[in-house]
Amino acid sequence: MARYTGSVCRLCRREGTKLFLKGDRCYGPKCAVGHRPTPPGEHGQARQRKQSEYGMQLREKQKARRAYGMLETQFHRYFKKAEAQKGITGDNLLVMLERRLDNVVYRLGFGASRPQARQWVRHGHILVNGKKVSIPSYLVSVGDVITVRAKSAEVEHFKALREGTGRVIPKWLTLDAAELKGTVNAMPQREDIDLTIQEHMIVELYSR
Ligand code: SF4
Repeated sequence: MARYTGSVCRLCRREGTKLFLKGDRCYGPKCAVGHRPTPPGEHGQARQRKQSEYGMQLREKQKARRAYGMLETQFHRYFKKAEAQKGITGDNLLVMLERRLDNVVYRLGFGASRPQARQWVRHGHILVNGKKVSIPSYLVSVGDVITVRAKSAEVEHFKALREGTGRVIPKWLTLDAAELKGTVNAMPQREDIDLTIQEHMIVELYSR
């Protein structure tokens, strides 16, 4: 599957917000959003001018799509599914994205960023209810138990996490760091998702 291979910090600068795509660096003084706050490229300054309504809607969509590391077609498919569900489409969309296995692995702190968490899943390091699941888009359900494969738990990265992952765990998940085990207690709610995305604008964009 095609994927973006350019600088991820450019994506944050383009959206004007931290998307937390690079692990520890995102939390330190070297974060590009902090010291180079203008959009990337020769005409970066010019892009800061007042945006049209369409421009703002587009930026909100790009922010969500890039935070969760998705290409347009895949993201649009999530939107269609969210639209077909009962309830508020924008909320449905974010909740579905949040339930992705790669995101859950990131939220538990097993991966320093969503891209790294996705790698752990793809490479077979993660089990769901004791079985290997190597599909990052797998949607977790209430009661699912996410663990690190026994052999992988001996790798230095995971060993260090047994002391605690240093991540604030959202209330719909619980973490037993010593066992490298996370449990899904409830479905995430919109208020549990800390991304500053105006999802109603994504709905408006796709409804044009
Ligand atoms: Fe974004 Fe992280 Fe790069 Fe900062 S360090 S610009 S948050 S990817």
